[in-house]
Amino acid sequence: MTPQETPATTDFIREIIDEDLRRGRHKRIVTRFPPEPNGYLHIGHAKSVCLNFGIAAQYGGLCNLRMDDTDPSGESLEYVQSIIDDVRWLGFDWQDRLYFASDYFERLYEYAVRLIEKGKAYVCALTPDEMREYRGTLTEPGRESPWRNRPVEENLDLFRRMRAGEFADGELVLRAKIDMASPNIVMRDPIIYRIKRTPHYRTGNDWVIYPMYDFAHCLSDYIEGITHSICTLEFENNRPLYDWILEELVEEPRPRQIEFARLNVSYTVLSKRRLIEMVEGGVVSGWDDPRMPTVAGMRRRGFTAAAIRDFAAKIGVAKKDNLVDVALLEACVRDDLNEKAPRVMGVLNPLRLVIDNYPEGKVEEVECPNHPRRPEMGSRRVPFSRVLYIERDDFMEDPPKKYKRLGPGRQVRLRNAYLVRHAGTVKDEKTGEVKEIHCLYDPDSLMGTAGEDRKGEGVIHWVSAPHALEAEVRLYDRLFTVADPGAREDYLSLINPDSLILLTGCLVERSLGGAKPGDTFQFERLGYFRVDKDATEERLVFNRVVPLRDSWSKIAAR
Ligand code: ATP
Ligand code: MG
Repeated sequence: MTPQETPATTDFIREIIDEDLRRGRHKRIVTRFPPEPNGYLHIGHAKSVCLNFGIAAQYGGLCNLRMDDTDPSGESLEYVQSIIDDVRWLGFDWQDRLYFASDYFERLYEYAVRLIEKGKAYVCALTPDEMREYRGTLTEPGRESPWRNRPVEENLDLFRRMRAGEFADGELVLRAKIDMASPNIVMRDPIIYRIKRTPHYRTGNDWVIYPMYDFAHCLSDYIEGITHSICTLEFENNRPLYDWILEELVEEPRPRQIEFARLNVSYTVLSKRRLIEMVEGGVVSGWDDPRMPTVAGMRRRGFTAAAIRDFAAKIGVAKKDNLVDVALLEACVRDDLNEKAPRVMGVLNPLRLVIDNYPEGKVEEVECPNHPRRPEMGSRRVPFSRVLYIERDDFMEDPPKKYKRLGPGRQVRLRNAYLVRHAGTVKDEKTGEVKEIHCLYDPDSLMGTAGEDRKGEGVIHWVSAPHALEAEVRLYDRLFTVADPGAREDYLSLINPDSLILLTGCLVERSLGGAKPGDTFQFERLGYFRVDKDATEERLVFNRVVPLRDSWSKIAAR
């Protein structure tokens, strides 16, 4: 599915846009995705990316990528690059419209000067504590700052000197002059500029004053000709301020802010602060740890961009915060890979199987289709010989009735090959552990020979011992043990200790010898696996993307 094909079901945002178009407010829709480059993008951002670029595509409009980089602390070029990579990987194109709010610093400064000249902003010297005290509460109005009625000339002079670096950090701020009695606290003379001597990753030491989000964002939207500024619900109370600033400073057509509910996904956290904490604290191996809800992590794990877009389309947009089950995301991944991933055989937990009546030294190349329903994906030849490995779980000495695998005296189909019947078990004398099983094969049962379709009591996968390649496999489970860890301050104590299980000594079929990082396969009966970036020519390393069904395979918990 390409971004343009994303199902365009309607929702309250699209209804607003339809209405604006009908009324002729805009001819062309322009949206933007405005991340602050102070962390990697996560699945919540991905949803916003899909929404903004998806709407632009649907209406034949444009979507800009804008780094909302007006707060120098914590922002960096590494984050900018990761955002660019992630949005592109998700399948979206901003053409030449990559913008930086920091490129607007001079214009934003001029807008602030205009506001002062209009008598709508003033330089305030209250300390942060005093400011809090003057602000009032939800039930009580605030009080006016003693600096509120400073003459315009004095404000202009002070603001210029703030910029020139004559004052210490926090000594003065510029505030919008709105209404200290407003029932909406956001409107009680909000700060729009502050002094902060932190070098900016792009503008260096050019500035010691920085605009606040509320001031910078609406004007950046205006500068770019954004028609619909889609953001998350926590900015609902800020909308009157967004509108106030634009009405004071610029003409129609002005952008319009629309809020939707943040995406929350179960068993993970989606706050940048917390993701940074986990990366810096070494709780995960990095931003691209395959257990992370980051785009980089999901990509490394093996989730596909198409699956993430499908997920975003399926959950739609809501007006109320909710928690989406991560199983839905995994189901989208499974649906996509089910169509695309070639099938191979790999054994995670090997048990030796010897076919006593198969000639020693003989090797047959059995033809295996790469996809059961897509002949165009071709087939490959997999070596079959006297000694094989099967999954330890696929043999039970005392199997329950419904067990569809090997047990004493039972016959099963070896996938794409022969029927074999169990004939003996070798155990460790001391521990009683099953070391090896022996079988007899039916030479007339090769899959693919005319009329041969017997299943036996089940079908199991295998690899040929002398031909198999060794691999390391990383199994992932949910990162947290509770559905909503984000709701708790002690979320770090809720990390799932089994969120990563490392399996070594796994055996995979010969054809995987040339597999490259990024290649994704279905290991028959087990799930989807992607070659990790840690893999080398000598060392195969797979990440399990998702198991086949919506239950974590028993093998994971051995
Ligand atoms: P913070 O956690 O520091 O508030 P943020 O996650 O909001 O940061 P931004 O870089 O400001 O990060 O987000 C960029 C865009 O992505 C914004 O428009 C924001 O509304 C949107 N966004 C962020 N998180 C989510 C989420 N969980 N669901 C949907 N959209 C999100
Ligand atoms: Mg934000």
